[in-house]
Amino acid sequence: MTTWKIGGPAEYIYWPPDRQTLIEAVKLAESAGIPVWIIGRGSNLLIADAGLPGLTIVTTDLQKLTWGDYKVTVEAGYSLARLAQETAERGWSGLDFARGIPGTIGGAIIMNAGAYGGEISQKLIKVKVLMERELQELPRRDLKFTYRESCLRGKGLILEAEFWFEPGDRKQLLAGMASNLAKRKAAQPLELPNAGSVFRNPPQESAGRLLEAAGWKGKGRGGAFVSEKHANFIVNTGQATAGDVLGLIQDIQEDILRKYGLDLQPEVEYLKWRG
Ligand SMILES: Cc1cc2nc3c(=O)[nH]c(=O)nc-3n(C[C@H](O)[C@H](O)[C@H](O)COP(=O)(O)OP(=O)(O)OC[C@H]3O[C@@H](n4cnc5c(N)ncnc54)[C@H](O)[C@@H]3O)c2cc1C
Repeated sequence: MTTWKIGGPAEYIYWPPDRQTLIEAVKLAESAGIPVWIIGRGSNLLIADAGLPGLTIVTTDLQKLTWGDYKVTVEAGYSLARLAQETAERGWSGLDFARGIPGTIGGAIIMNAGAYGGEISQKLIKVKVLMERELQELPRRDLKFTYRESCLRGKGLILEAEFWFEPGDRKQLLAGMASNLAKRKAAQPLELPNAGSVFRNPPQESAGRLLEAAGWKGKGRGGAFVSEKHANFIVNTGQATAGDVLGLIQDIQEDILRKYGLDLQPEVEYLKWRG
């Protein structure tokens, strides 16, 4: 269920077919005291080898989309990359930066996904969320977006989002996206299971550059290795465990702190039962 293809099993797993069923499932689980975990495409997640107790809900069947006038309303499980492609094909500018980001709309909003100077928060109008057992509609400003973060993480279940766009040049948008995809293919180890950038960039720094300078390329633990192609990617060479990845992350953090005095923070999220 994750792009790293590691982590233990979910006790129960459920793909709700629509929003109403999703809400009912969450409410039922909560009233029975069962922990609930929300997953989109699992492209930013490290899940503990022990797995997740309780109910894991995967949003990828929530796929409704309504076109408006340079606006779109879309459910949380829709693919961000697909929405980027479809809007650019209409000549709508705004999400073209996101063509190579393999997550869902919900996962992307939670962590304010971004690339090439763009961030998903820039084009968001509002979200519908389930929060504190209530259905709520929150405008963009209430989500308190910062670099790769929003205040909804772990607090609100995103059901739907509305975005706005600007008129653009279809050909230019499609060419820009193709060029960015080619750059990703050349620079990122897309041939092996990974979760994108492992660490957030420190202010005015690039985590990848730091790791490369510190000699981490090609180093590993068990089946998990720092990519030779891009030092901020950890790849699963086939047999990695979540413990290998976690250990490697901690080794890197200690080394970078010692060498540069910088406290590197993970961009990937670690899901582990702490109950
Ligand atoms: C090859 C590759 C390249 C990448 N490039 C980029 C990049 O350029 N820029 C970038 O920002 N990221 C990048 N990523 C990381 C990742 O794709 C994004 O973070 C993406 O937005 C995560 O979405 P997801 O659906 O996979 O979320 P998941 O990984 O499934 O979940 C991430 C978090 O969001 C929560 N969540 C998911 N859906 C919902 C919902 N509906 N409501 C509430 N919470 C929810 C989960 O509980 C979890 O806390 C890359 C990943 C890969 C594998």
